[in-house]
Formats: sequence, C-alpha cells, structure tokens
Amino acid sequence: MTTTEAGSETSVPSAGAEAGSGGGAGSAAGVEVVGSLSPSRASDFMTCPLRYRFRVIDRLPERPSAAAARGTLVHAVLERLFDLPRDGRTAAAALEMLGPEWERLLAEEPELAGLFADGDGGDAERAEWLGQARRMVERYFTLEDPQRLEPAERELFVETVLDSGLKLRGYIDRVDVAPSGDVRIVDYKTGTAPRADFEARALFQMKFYALVLWRLQGRVPRLLQLMYLGNGEVLRYEPDESDLRATQRKVEALWQAIRRAMDTGEWRARTGRLCDWCDHKERCPEFGGTPPPLPAAPVNRPSPADLEVTAGPQAAARERDDL
Ligand code: SF4
Repeated sequence: MTTTEAGSETSVPSAGAEAGSGGGAGSAAGVEVVGSLSPSRASDFMTCPLRYRFRVIDRLPERPSAAAARGTLVHAVLERLFDLPRDGRTAAAALEMLGPEWERLLAEEPELAGLFADGDGGDAERAEWLGQARRMVERYFTLEDPQRLEPAERELFVETVLDSGLKLRGYIDRVDVAPSGDVRIVDYKTGTAPRADFEARALFQMKFYALVLWRLQGRVPRLLQLMYLGNGEVLRYEPDESDLRATQRKVEALWQAIRRAMDTGEWRARTGRLCDWCDHKERCPEFGGTPPPLPAAPVNRPSPADLEVTAGPQAAARERDDL
C-alpha cells in the first residue's frame, strides 16, 4: 500500500543509531561476482535496452544537463544541511548553501559552466535555473522539519552480492533509524510525483535499496519514502519480506535479460517519452540513426561488474535517476 501526501510530516521518530555501513556485509561468501546492477541502470534497461547499451556497454559520453546539475545541487545542499547543528537547519541557511555548493560542483566538473551561454540570455537562464533550485529547497522545508531529524546515514553507498553472483549496489540519499530500530529509507526527487500508474516504477528503486539493506542488516526496512521536491508530494510505502523477495526475482530476471542481450548483441530500442531527453537519439535506429558497432572482442569489453562505476556530479545525478 502506498500513500501520497502533500506537505505532511513523517510519523517515524528521529533517527538515533547506526544504519549499517554497507560495503558488502551481506555478500554471499565465496560467490564469484558475475555482474553489477544499480537501480538506475536497471531502470535504463527496463525503459530502453538500447539506451542501456549506449550507456553501459559502449560507455558513450552524454552532454551535461541543467536538470541533472540542479538535482545534484539540491541533493548536495540537503545532505550538508545535516552537518549544521539542529537549530541551524533553517530554510535560510539551506538557501545560503546553494551558491557555495554550486561553486564546489563547478570545481569538480568544470564543463558544467558550459550549461549556460555567455551574455544576457545565459544569465537569465542561470537565474531561472537557480530560482528553481531555491524553490525546491524551500519546498523541502514544507515536507519535514530537519531540526527534528538526525539521519543515521546520508549518501550511503550499499552493495551486496546475491547467491547468483549478481552484485546490487547504489547510493541511498538518507537512512533514518528510529529508537525502536525501525529503518526508513529516504530519497529526494527533484521532479514531480509520478501518476499512480507509474508509482510502481518509482518504488522499484526504493525496494531495490530495501532489499540490499535487508541483506546487510537482516531486518526489513520499515518505510520507504520518496520526497518529490518538484511539487511537494511524499510517496510512502511499507515493504514486507514478500515484496523484497519479489524484487530480488525481478532483478535476477532483469539481469538474465541483460546477459541475453550481451550474448546475442540484440539491444532493442524501446521508444517512449524519455526519447525526448535521450542523448543518443541521433544514433538510434528508431530515429533514423545507426548504432556504432559493438565493442568487437568480448575480452576487451568492460566487465559488467565494472560497468557502472562512474564519477562526477553528472554521473551522480544519473545514479539517482533524477533526470
Ligand atoms: S532515442 Fe529512445 S528508443 Fe532510441 S535509444 Fe534513446 S530512449 Fe531508446
């Protein structure tokens, strides 16, 4: 059962304990890793196998995107907000962090400066972009009070290896742990909440994280919470063991489909609304393009276990599925 609300306060008490450090504590001992999957890449394959291929197998570069950069900026502010003492976690303080955090991201990835053209037009675009980021940060404060929270973890890297050898990995925006030990997984989205018929896809990512944490900690997370800063809605879901077992079966089946595509070289293009934002449209057969040849020798092809390790703010945004 999911609940979607606007502007409601969470009922889970403040966190107090360690949520676990990840890093493979739940890995199947002695199992050879045969591949690696994050929620974002799994979502890529489900959305369009060809897009997955371009991103993961060919590793084709993608243009920096203003939406992704904004997502990274807002996430960075919300992560660092909790470095402040409780009574300092105000909207004004968070808004003040936007400028310095943007400078930090620019230093890490200087090409982000090219998102906005020189001159008045570019300045206006940058101002509008920053205004949107400000509104998202302000909206966050209408959804919960960070002075009442002490997250156990922020930007937590988690990974586990299933018995099949498939490694599941990803970054969780925030983990809260109640005094009772109940765990809440929180993810910030800088888009708007999905329509009811797309909720399952949004929750897949959260169930994926819940599955990993369950394997690491031996306890099913109590609550999954998606916070949509684009329109101020919160999607909550209470998973149970059968949910997480079903998620594991789904992930394993997805991996088998990816392996089949790798073995056969058939990566199907699946058109949809994402095509409008796809960086690979010009090489997509659905739009008259021709994909480059697949990397020829399998031995030279990057191992699927290594394919998903990327770096930089844009990659981080991609990992978060914020696009
Ligand atoms: S343009 Fe659409 S169909 Fe083609 S690769 Fe991109 S997402 Fe897939």
